[in-house]
Amino acid sequence: MNRQSVSERRIPERRCAGCGERFPKSSLVRIVCGADGTAAVDSSMKAQSRGVYLCRNEKCLARALKSGRIASSVGARLDESSAELIKQAVLGTGDAK
Ligand SMILES: [Zn+2]
Repeated sequence: MNRQSVSERRIPERRCAGCGERFPKSSLVRIVCGADGTAAVDSSMKAQSRGVYLCRNEKCLARALKSGRIASSVGARLDESSAELIKQAVLGTGDAK
C-alpha cells in the first residue's frame, strides 16, 4: 500500500524512544540535554540539540527511563528531578486532560 494519499499538509513524525512507534511530532514530548547537562523537557520543541521523543504513555516513559535510553540518546544525565519533570510532561500533569 502506498501512502501518497495521506497528506494535505505533511506532519513531521518522530519515533518514540519507548515503543518505537512513529507519532506526529506535536503529540510527543521532546527531551534534550539541558544547559546543566541533565535531561530536560524541550517544551518549545525547538532547541537546537539532539532530542529524544516520548509518546504520552506511561509504559514508554518507564521503559525509556529504565533502559537509560533517554540519557544515552541525548548525552545527558538523568537525575531524579529531571526524571520527574519528564514524567509530568509525558503524563500531562497540570495540563489539560
Ligand atoms: Zn511510545
